[in-house]
Amino acid sequence: MGAELGKYKSCVSARSTDKEILKGAQDGGIVTSLFAYALEAGIIDGAIVAGKGDLPWKPEPVVATTRAELLAARGTRYNISPNMSLIKEVTRSYGLDKVGIVGTPCQMQAVRKAQLYPFGLREVGDKIALAVGIFCMENFPYQSVLQLVEDHAAMKMESVKKMEIGKGKFWVFGERGQVVQLPLKVTHKYEQPGCHVCLDYVANMADISTGSVGSPDGWSTIFVRSKIGDSVWAKAMAAGCFETKPMETVKPGLELVTKLANEKISKNRKTLEERASFGTGKGLRNPYL
Ligand code: SF4
Repeated sequence: MGAELGKYKSCVSARSTDKEILKGAQDGGIVTSLFAYALEAGIIDGAIVAGKGDLPWKPEPVVATTRAELLAARGTRYNISPNMSLIKEVTRSYGLDKVGIVGTPCQMQAVRKAQLYPFGLREVGDKIALAVGIFCMENFPYQSVLQLVEDHAAMKMESVKKMEIGKGKFWVFGERGQVVQLPLKVTHKYEQPGCHVCLDYVANMADISTGSVGSPDGWSTIFVRSKIGDSVWAKAMAAGCFETKPMETVKPGLELVTKLANEKISKNRKTLEERASFGTGKGLRNPYL
């Protein structure tokens, strides 16, 4: 496999062995289980996660310092939770010394930048004990999710049980068993424009990255990347937190992850080049004349 998957030490398909966590999980319950284990083992003393906000399906970053708080934040919400906004607060007001953080690939880049160039973040970088990244093809502003669910899928936000992007569709599952699938060509125009120049699909900068793509339903694909990630993963495995299958034995497998990562990179590289040349060359022109 090439550079599109980033550096990693190991890659497996996994799911949590914790029935309670799996019940409300998006896929394999990986993030909640990892942080719950890390909390219990004293590897972290809290984690910044995307919690439930005041509006339905609008995430708000929260600091979870107990298993119950982690459980309350399970599941994926398809608009950004600005988890980095709490990175300083978590070490100051909350007084945490060993911080876990989950985020998108761009947020994992921000974590590493904060560690390398800690302007305004003195003594924060050393306290980041576990950074977990989530695969991400694109993201949506909250207003756009509202349009997609209420206008396109004709469902009320508060009656949605789960949302998912997979198999080339945006899926909305209702509480009464309704399922609406929207083709991604409908959702495309609602994506955040910043996502169209993003070249990271699998959170290359995380200690551990995870996402559903590549693994069977109910399971997640895991990339263990850093020394920290390796050590936490090995301990969590030894503690029986996860069951795993070798990636080569599952369908659709790493081939699909590679394909999607490559598609994201080549599509967005094109946008990057277009934007880089915008307003140059022949100068600014009115395209409507
Ligand atoms: S596509 Fe990239 S920029 Fe957009 S939310 Fe995902 S990681 Fe961040």
